[in-house]
Amino acid sequence: MYLNCSRCGLSLHTSRFVHIEPGYCPRCLARARVLQPLFRSPMTVRQLNANPNDQNISPRPGPDASALPDPDAA
Ligand SMILES: [Zn+2]
Repeated sequence: MYLNCSRCGLSLHTSRFVHIEPGYCPRCLARARVLQPLFRSPMTVRQLNANPNDQNISPRPGPDASALPDPDAA
């Protein structure tokens, strides 16, 4: 299992942090003073980005205007 940073792509193996797991990316904190939360994944960011199936994100459809209540109906 890895702790990954989506901002800079840093991947840390969790076995390195048996007692303390960093909640934020140490690289982003050191370089950009940004508290970037890490996310757990069985793969590294590099491996995740290499998987084309994970890039298949469809855009959310916008709100349907016909679903809004019609003020003239009441
Ligand atoms: Zn980072």
